[in-house]
Amino acid sequence: KKAEWAKLKDEKTLSADGKHFTLGANIGTPKDLDGVVENGAEGVGLYRTEFLYMDSQELPTEEQQFEAYKAVLEGVGPDENVTVRTMDIGGDKELPYLPLPEEENPFLGYRAIRISLDRQDIFRTQLRALIRASAFGNLWIMFPMVATLSEFRQARDLFEEEKAKLVAEGVEVSDNIKLGIMIEIPAAAVLADKFAQEVDFFSIGTNDLIGYSMAADRGNDKISYLYQPYNPSILRLVNYVIKSAHKYGKFAAMCGEMAGDPIAVPILMGMGLDEFSMSATSVLSTRSLMSRLNAADLEGLAEKAIDAETNEDVIALVKAEVPEAE
Ligand code: PEP
Ligand code: MG
Repeated sequence: KKAEWAKLKDEKTLSADGKHFTLGANIGTPKDLDGVVENGAEGVGLYRTEFLYMDSQELPTEEQQFEAYKAVLEGVGPDENVTVRTMDIGGDKELPYLPLPEEENPFLGYRAIRISLDRQDIFRTQLRALIRASAFGNLWIMFPMVATLSEFRQARDLFEEEKAKLVAEGVEVSDNIKLGIMIEIPAAAVLADKFAQEVDFFSIGTNDLIGYSMAADRGNDKISYLYQPYNPSILRLVNYVIKSAHKYGKFAAMCGEMAGDPIAVPILMGMGLDEFSMSATSVLSTRSLMSRLNAADLEGLAEKAIDAETNEDVIALVKAEVPEAE
């Protein structure tokens, strides 16, 4: 199998009937670029920049961030995209030098874009570093844990302000930076048709979207049975997000674990997901699976999955109709 996968390393990702899907890699630091190249990923679908903050003793400077973002953009090169997520701190991700308030429910609290919009000093520094790095590749920026249109608009306005300042300073910047949001809060998924009119792209973060939709923490053994990626409620949200993006000509990606899950992949192909971003080590096996499936045939599978009753029914459905998805 490994030998068969290796042959696909330099190939594009095509279904048996010739439909192209983008298979990106999720990375945490510029060091992870080796894995992206070795596994033939088509760009980076999620660069988790919070590691830059977590691996440091103090807030990373604009210059330090610029160097990291530039390294990733140059490493990926001009033919593929790099989707950089602005800092997703809070929840379980702490910074020793940035004390966060004690909270009853940190996962429902001060985190991610909420911190960025509150601490504009930190956010503007990150945006400047990103915009400066944009001259070195194809940069897509996305904001984590967006719940409302207002949050996206505020983040976009800060981005536009910093970009205008850099242009006025004579700094070379790309005029083709794409702006998107992670869909990981159910409220944003349900309002995807409105968001789609303002963003360039979505990236569905199923790790959090499943947890918040089922109100179940995957780390909690007592209720882990509720962490159900294929529950039709989750599949309906995912499908609605993809269809809403496409209704307005926007791009729909997924960067949660589900994007590399062999049971979910045929359903997501049938829904028309544009980009699947996963850990680099899953890229070749996923490309191999996709190459054996007819995308057109999977539309019916996706419809049946959305209309199913339970998580288990969906697993049984995929196993019966797609024996390749072992
Ligand atoms: C997600 O929530 O699916 C996601 C990709 O973000 P993270 O795993 O970093 O929370
Ligand atoms: Mg998340």
